[in-house]
Amino acid sequence: SKTCTDVICPFCGTLCDDLIVTTDDEGKKILNVENACAIGAEKFLHASDHSHRVTRPQKLQEDGSFKEITYDEAIEYTAQMLANAKKPSMYGWSSTNCESQSVGHEIAELCGALVDNTAAVCHGTTLIAVQNVGIPSCTLGEVKNRADRVIFWGCNPAHAHPRHMSRYSIFPRGYFTGKGQKQRKIIVVDPRPTDTASLADVHLQVEQGYDYELLQALRAAVRGNELTGDIIAGVPKEKVYEAAELLKSGRFGVIFFGMGVTQSLGKDHNIDAAIMLTKDLNDYTKFSIIAMRGHYNVTGSGQVLGWQFGFPYSVDLSRGFARYNPGETGTIEVLKRKEIDAMFVLGSDPGAHFPMECVKEISRLPSVAIDPHITPTTAICKVHVPVAFVGVEVGGNCYRMDNVPIEARKVVEPPEGMMTDEEFLKAVLKRVKELKAN
Ligand code: SF4
Repeated sequence: SKTCTDVICPFCGTLCDDLIVTTDDEGKKILNVENACAIGAEKFLHASDHSHRVTRPQKLQEDGSFKEITYDEAIEYTAQMLANAKKPSMYGWSSTNCESQSVGHEIAELCGALVDNTAAVCHGTTLIAVQNVGIPSCTLGEVKNRADRVIFWGCNPAHAHPRHMSRYSIFPRGYFTGKGQKQRKIIVVDPRPTDTASLADVHLQVEQGYDYELLQALRAAVRGNELTGDIIAGVPKEKVYEAAELLKSGRFGVIFFGMGVTQSLGKDHNIDAAIMLTKDLNDYTKFSIIAMRGHYNVTGSGQVLGWQFGFPYSVDLSRGFARYNPGETGTIEVLKRKEIDAMFVLGSDPGAHFPMECVKEISRLPSVAIDPHITPTTAICKVHVPVAFVGVEVGGNCYRMDNVPIEARKVVEPPEGMMTDEEFLKAVLKRVKELKAN
């Protein structure tokens, strides 16, 4: 057998980079995965079991069944669909590497497409807030080595980012945090008594939808202002004061926040307030804030879109230049307005996560889904193109939730003849260029 060390896990935004993967001598089958959490290990083991995988593209037939087609046919269908559309949407990009994202954007520019990633339904509000007020941030390494005050606001890493707490935020012993968990004070803000909340020193059980009020109350308490009312956003006033004093008394603190606060009432204004709270705390101690990004390379998608078009998501290229107006140029909005005439999905599953009227609209459109798995999206798209798993069967660059780029490694061969995202996109790009030239 062969052993591959320092393997990254291509599942969540924690992007753990310490996995040890053992394969057979030919590098065809994964025998063992060490250090990963249950979700991460399953991704590798599941990828390595080819018996249940679709290995060739499939096209939807009139009777509702799928018929196998060749990769060349799938490339032709995709290129024709994108080149002939007036305003195609190219959505997803969060579960693939930056190299593929970059090729996809070139196609989008040629075809006047709308390019969007899964931030549209998770941390897009965060990106808007960062544009509004900036972001005082740091790396997860700094959190491990320095942080003695940690807030989890509207997120539950015990389930969504299982090794986050053991590698960076609660348990590890770092350079200035030699006593690990004993040296850290944890505050969890969540309406629910979650498994993460059970580890907290202070659990602020905010009333659902009142995060903004609690954030502003904390800002006032941190600055020593008096709070009016005995209960604020469902939390007793004394507990707000207690939390404020706890945060100010630390040497280095960090706020981690998730979709509980980005997608609840207030949206980007909640994040404006969370960033301003971080800024206020820097008058007393050192504080940072980091978004708990979900998909393993959604951060990378924002980065690559940022370099290439200046905006991190919901970029509309249909007028020949980049426009960005979330709420108008987002994929959900254009689907609801029935404004696009072709749908291309790669590295995400809108069929499982978008509102039903958008899912129905996708099913009416000419559409292609690029995904190693059969998903609700591949089931409603006209063509499904299976590809190799990034981070398992092909390497490439990915960005961790704290914006640190990490190179993913290839540990096994993909099923014979299977294309990677990047290979497929490059072939489509070549064909689109030919079609446009004619
Ligand atoms: Fe993979 Fe996330 Fe688990 Fe780390 S915490 S092993 S990145 S799923």
